[in-house]
Amino acid sequence: MPLRLQAEILELKTRHPFIIARGTQDIYRTVHIRLTDEDGLEGWGEAAPQRYYGETPETVLAALNLYATALPDDPLLLDDAEAELATVLRGNSAARAGLSAALHDLAGKRLGVPVHRLFGLDARRCPLSTFTIGIDTPDRITMKVREADPYPILKVKLGTNDDVAILQTIRDGTSKELRVDANGGWTRKQAVRMLPVLDEYGVTVLEQPLAPDDLEGLAEVSRRARIPVIADESCLTAADIPRLIGKVDGINIKLAKTGSLREAIRMIALARAHHLMVMVGCMIESSIGITAAAQITPLVDLCDLDGAALLGHDPFAGASIESGQLRLPEGPGLGLSAR
Ligand code: MG
Repeated sequence: MPLRLQAEILELKTRHPFIIARGTQDIYRTVHIRLTDEDGLEGWGEAAPQRYYGETPETVLAALNLYATALPDDPLLLDDAEAELATVLRGNSAARAGLSAALHDLAGKRLGVPVHRLFGLDARRCPLSTFTIGIDTPDRITMKVREADPYPILKVKLGTNDDVAILQTIRDGTSKELRVDANGGWTRKQAVRMLPVLDEYGVTVLEQPLAPDDLEGLAEVSRRARIPVIADESCLTAADIPRLIGKVDGINIKLAKTGSLREAIRMIALARAHHLMVMVGCMIESSIGITAAAQITPLVDLCDLDGAALLGHDPFAGASIESGQLRLPEGPGLGLSAR
């Protein structure tokens, strides 16, 4: 009997409006995907569509209708299943990532092992996760820094005309390690001007300083920077890595960009072969999406999986972050439950 696919839009609200260089939002709609097999076992996944990458919840639902016709008879043949989905309808990476997570969850449940164990990974090797401070007024930034007290590393969103003031406000409130993400919001000139400022404020990592296509600019910023420069919006899948070699120091992998857990692992292997640092990040999503991404973090250097921690209410429980330490659930598959 073929797998049955059900999909439902989740409406997630962040605790505070979340502001980055591209805009502000506090309601995020993702899609909860459930695959049910003939024994009634359920695999769960979440698609976190981004307009920036050409997807909405509605396009996810439409894509899932097509993908439902191409689900594997044997969910343990995960490589074949993912390849088939990408053939049926290209792009739609968030939709495919949600299906990939659901297929892995189901496979793990059938075998009675957690997904990270399927990959042969040691859950004790999960790195610390950062907690993100979005762009905001000085008062609200100060409050957010206080709220982020349990997290030892903060990720600061920049890409505004007030970036120095934002860093100063945060430094006034904490001596923690800071990493910066400009979300492509700087020009080359601004980025070069900001480099000594980042040093002055003790920033340790710089993510996507320039627009995604400005690879020569990224190379220039990386050459001048004393800290590692990580490509996020410039690096969606493994196919993007070759042209980034020698231009950045690392890549940020997100399932909503890669379209699959297995592609994420291929990216890690390729990045490692070229001595690139590897980061795993996320969108604003519930613990379903975060827990899927968390499965591969024993393989990476940097982790930014605070998407569910930024929510006012997370409908699901899975991977958790305790004092910044990411912890994987021990149950089979993704080990998820509804709250
Ligand atoms: Mg980023």
